[in-house]
This record gives sequence, structure tokens and C-alpha cells, in this order.
Amino acid sequence: MDNKLDIEGVHTYWSINFSKALGRRKFLKTAFGMGVFCLNFALSRSDATAGRPFRISDRYSPLNERRPVRPETRYIILHTTEGDYRGSFEKIQRYGEAHYFVAPSGEVYRIIDRRRIATHAGRSMWQGRSTIDNYSIGIEVVGYHDRDITEAQYTALRELLRQLKSLYRIGDENILTHSMVAYGRPNRFHSQKHRGRKRCGMIFAHPEVRRRLGLSPGPADDPDVAARRLVVADPELHRFLYQPHPVFASASVDPMVISKGTNAWRIARERYDDPLTVYVYPDGRRLRGNEIRDWNGIPAGTRVLFLDGDRDREHEFEGFLEIGRDGGTVRELAGDLYADATTIYFFPDGLVRTGAEMNRTASLRRMLDSPPDGTRVLVGYVYGGYVRPDREASKVAGKSWNYPSTFYRLPDGRILRGDEIDDKAIPARTMIFMLR
Ligand SMILES: [Zn+2]
Repeated sequence: MDNKLDIEGVHTYWSINFSKALGRRKFLKTAFGMGVFCLNFALSRSDATAGRPFRISDRYSPLNERRPVRPETRYIILHTTEGDYRGSFEKIQRYGEAHYFVAPSGEVYRIIDRRRIATHAGRSMWQGRSTIDNYSIGIEVVGYHDRDITEAQYTALRELLRQLKSLYRIGDENILTHSMVAYGRPNRFHSQKHRGRKRCGMIFAHPEVRRRLGLSPGPADDPDVAARRLVVADPELHRFLYQPHPVFASASVDPMVISKGTNAWRIARERYDDPLTVYVYPDGRRLRGNEIRDWNGIPAGTRVLFLDGDRDREHEFEGFLEIGRDGGTVRELAGDLYADATTIYFFPDGLVRTGAEMNRTASLRRMLDSPPDGTRVLVGYVYGGYVRPDREASKVAGKSWNYPSTFYRLPDGRILRGDEIDDKAIPARTMIFMLR
């Protein structure tokens, strides 16, 4: 156990009892998330944590050694686990989904070496750059997007951020929340790529929370919405993230019940059509997400349940979608991008084509109209080419050859991620697909 980020580091850092400096108790009440949550940002006494050393321990993921070194570090992305300590830690460590993990006690764990890539942001974009994992450090804080964190977490996170900011020369405007950078692919509810896929970490956009973490207010606007690369799909989240003193309008609606302004996507986000998402209709019928066909016909009063608990599966990697499993039509899977050059189809018979190629020939266009079950789709990818004896993976895919976001399709049809591939044993005629 040590108290610094670097093995080379020599300083000992101690927590700062910053709330004491404020000299008085102060409450900031904010109605959160459709008005049903109420947050108390209590600037309470934190004598219990005063003077406690800042401690970081190594709890490296088994995937740590396989992860490539990140070429650039521009951002720090803050997450809330949306689940309890134990369950969250096990999953994040197993899959290498953060660089740091901040426990409720204020203890900080290293999961992935800060120089390497952790898969924490999933489908993400900021300032036109996508796959923010490749440019950022991810910090998971045990807690929920709409609840305050513990005093000990404030103290630890403030010190962790201070060290990382100085080490990487990152300005406060580049300390972002996962909810700011995540974006959704087109779906039944939103025909365009959209912001609002996640509410993860949104409390870290609150100016009072940021102040307590030693941060100035976050970005004033969403750069990708301003540039029309994305549309806003969750206006309440957008207001919360970008208003100087964000407060949600109060409303007395149950957040898990479908009503006039609350459709299935608003409740379940990308889990809306999942078999583990169950819709209990007012007449008592129960339908699973994958059994619903008429998404506009779900009656008001229908209750939504998640059979696997309410853990937000925010870290689910942006991988393959499948006809029959994720939707029945190419539009359901890829939205308006279904015939785009960056949408790639893998048919069960082995045919691999981009949407644009499919759309050029009448016979292939017909396959887009009724794709066979099991057809897999990648959205937002480019085809890099074949691996050949004289053209190794790093020549095809460049520095992203071993990124977790890069996919390899082997001649036998198997698909592997970049961090699963052994570059000494890639068969000839393996195809490589990189995020655009
Ligand atoms: Zn997150």
C-alpha cells in the first residue's frame, strides 16, 4: 500500500479537511432525477477523516498486463458504480473497467495501470473524438448518479484528482462525467446518435460537488451537440450537466412506470428491449423486452422491472449487435446508419459487407430488407483489411491493433477483441475492424 500515484513519486499526501475551512454547516438541496430524488450536499463536519492519510493499494485486474499503453491522456472521466462495493469491485476488476476505484471508506485501488487503456467509457465521444477510453483515465466511485458520496470519498477523490491533474496537466474543464461523454447509437426511440445514454457520474457535474473536489465548474456546453454530431435525448440530464446551478423540475412521477412523458427508453435506456427487462402491463400481463413489438402501444401505468437487479450495465462494451437478439430489422440495430459505409454486416454464411456496399446492389439490398437471424452488425466501424504474411496487424490497424475496441474476424468465423489477440499467431486472411 502506498500513498502516491507513481512508483517514482516521493511525496506523502495527506487529506485536506477542506470542509472545516468553510467554517459552517451548509446544506444545498437539489431535486434530482425527475424530481423523485433529493440530494443533500451536506457540508458537514468531517473530523472523522481529518488527517487520515491518502492511501492507494494495488488491486490490478488480470487484464492489466494485456492492455496497451494509451497514446494520449486528455480527460479524466468520473463514474458512479450504481451498485454496492462488493459486486461493483469484482466486475470492474475482472474486466479492467477503471484505472482507480474509490471505496466508500476513501480507500483507493489501482485496477489498471494509469498508463494503459481501461475500458470504462464504452461508446463515447467528446469534442469529436470517439472512444474516450483511448484518451482518458477512468475513476469509479462507489455510489449512485443521484446520491451524494461519502466524506471519505470526497477527501480521497480530491487528492487523487489533484495528483492526476498535475501529472498529466489536465485542466478542470477536461474532468468530465461518464454521462457527459457517453452516446447512444440510433434506436427505435431516437433515429440519430444521441447524448443521454447514461446518467453515470452526473453528480460530479454539480458545481457544489465540484467545488468540494477542488474543481472549477465543468464545461458550459456539450461540444458534440453544439457541432450537431449528436442530439439531446435526455433534456433533464442535459440541463443538469450544463446549467450553472442545475436543478431538476419537480415532478411526482414514479421513475419506473411508463407515462405520457416517460417511454420505455427513458426508463430502461439501452436495456429497453433486453430479455431481462420485464414490462408489467396494467392488466397484469408481463412481457419481456425482446417480446415487445409495438413500442408505442405500451399503455401508461406499465411498470418496468430489471430481472438482473438495477445495476446499470454502463460498461457493456460497444460490440456486435445481432439480428434476432437485439432487434429484427437493420434499422432497429443501426438506425439511419443502416446503409452507411461505417455499418458492417456479418452474415451467417460468411459474407461480410458494409451497409454502403449492400445498398449498391439490388440482390444485396434485399438482404438488408430481411436479414437472417444471427446476422451480426458493427456500427461506427471501418474495415482495415486482411492480415497477410507481409502485412501484420499493426500495419493494418496502426496503433489501435491491440485496443479492446478493435475486432478481428478469423478465417474460421471466430471474432476476437484486440486485447485478446496473439499477434504472433494471427492466421492469414484475418479481417480487422477498427472504430472509425
Ligand atoms: Zn460510468
